[in-house]
Amino acid sequence: MSTVVIGAGLAGTFAARALSDAGEDVVVLEATPHLGGRTRSNREVLRHGQVADLGGSFLDIGQDLLLEFCVENGITLKPEIRMFPKGPDARYSGASILLGHVVIDEKRVEDDVRAALAREVQDALDSVPPGEKETLKAWVRRAGLSRDAADAYVMQGAFNPTARSELVSSWHVHPGDIGRICWILTDGTDTMARVAADGIDVRLDTPVRLVERVGRGYRVHTDADVLTCDNVVVSSSVQATRRIGFDPVLPSWKMAALLGTPLSQGGKAVGQYRDGAAIAAAAGPSTMTNGPVSMFWLKQGPEDTIIAMGTMADLGDGMLDDEEATLVSLDRHIEAMTGRTAERIAGIVQNWTTEEFVGGVVNLGTGGFARRAALGAPVGGIHFAGEATGEWPSAMEGAARSGLRVAAEILQKRRAHGNGAA
Ligand SMILES: Cc1cc2nc3c(=O)[nH]c(=O)nc-3n(C[C@H](O)[C@H](O)[C@H](O)COP(=O)(O)OP(=O)(O)OC[C@H]3O[C@@H](n4cnc5c(N)ncnc54)[C@H](O)[C@@H]3O)c2cc1C
Repeated sequence: MSTVVIGAGLAGTFAARALSDAGEDVVVLEATPHLGGRTRSNREVLRHGQVADLGGSFLDIGQDLLLEFCVENGITLKPEIRMFPKGPDARYSGASILLGHVVIDEKRVEDDVRAALAREVQDALDSVPPGEKETLKAWVRRAGLSRDAADAYVMQGAFNPTARSELVSSWHVHPGDIGRICWILTDGTDTMARVAADGIDVRLDTPVRLVERVGRGYRVHTDADVLTCDNVVVSSSVQATRRIGFDPVLPSWKMAALLGTPLSQGGKAVGQYRDGAAIAAAAGPSTMTNGPVSMFWLKQGPEDTIIAMGTMADLGDGMLDDEEATLVSLDRHIEAMTGRTAERIAGIVQNWTTEEFVGGVVNLGTGGFARRAALGAPVGGIHFAGEATGEWPSAMEGAARSGLRVAAEILQKRRAHGNGAA
């Protein structure tokens, strides 16, 4: 066998697919019982055969590799969501969400109030542009926004990435480069990893504990097995990679990059409701809130049902581990939009912070190119993929592209040296 891939998320499965297509022997070892990593989809909990996406769910404009992959493989993308309207002066900006639906303190914010807040935010963005690394909170203080405008602007930090707004840089919302048009996969986000892994030897429930260098090759230790290979692809999150043993230990520059890269903390709440058409009319396509479920969006299903999917930051208050309290909070926000009782028929909450082999939601883009380069650089025959190493930080596209990058690294070595061993 030539390559062992650690992790069956998008990075690992795209690496394995490219290597396998080029004729390499490849085995993917996945710690959990699930294929897809942070694109996990649950098919058991919701009614009427609906799928709950527990991790990533949107393909955005610009995620071209994945959009093409879906089209080429007949993966349906529906619905198409325009997450935010254009902001004041018909621009997409950090003020855009204020012209969409907003719930503050479980009350719907009326149109004229939102328009005035959006104008205030837009004027401030124009006259005092946020710095690239300036956090949302720091910028609203510097710009001198009114309390209501500041609260409304800062709220959106919880959308992408799911994190405490104190940590989110304005880069994530200014310019407003997310959510203009995005697509949800009809059959669940994990369909991409499933299709990429089709025909490949993927071993689930198989955590890798140790990667040991032996001569010019490697031994990869799991609880039950030891696999020998020429190359290893590590596609686990920064947090999960820190828990794998390496012998010899990884060089200090690699460890510094792994230790210095924060993962945002949080999860996802998914509720399924009756009266789908009424909810869609009142709350669609997306609603931003200052509650625990910071933003939710909708996908209509059969028999007048609708699925509301929301992201949540982990504020350390235990809320994410209290499934019912989280879902009730989602109910309340829907009720604020519709003005009537929300009839929930099913629901599920996923806490990514406590997920043993992930440890968080997405990497915060605070390290810039230098850190991503260090995270992605190979160490001998150990190659590093995953969203944190990607040219697209914090997104499925970055993860998939990083998989293709490491496959190209290995194939290039193979061509240069004959066997690819470092
Ligand atoms: C709630 C949420 C919402 C998101 N929303 C979006 C979105 O709308 N759009 C978007 O583009 N992105 C979104 N993302 C980000 C996106 O899902 C991730 O960037 C991407 O899926 C990461 O893929 P990956 O392959 O790099 O890592 P992962 O998906 O984490 O895959 C790594 C895999 O390695 C496995 N692993 C870890 N340690 C070991 C070990 N020791 N042995 C074996 N296996 C191991 C893990 O179990 C995991 O399956 C979201 C993420 C979350 C969590």
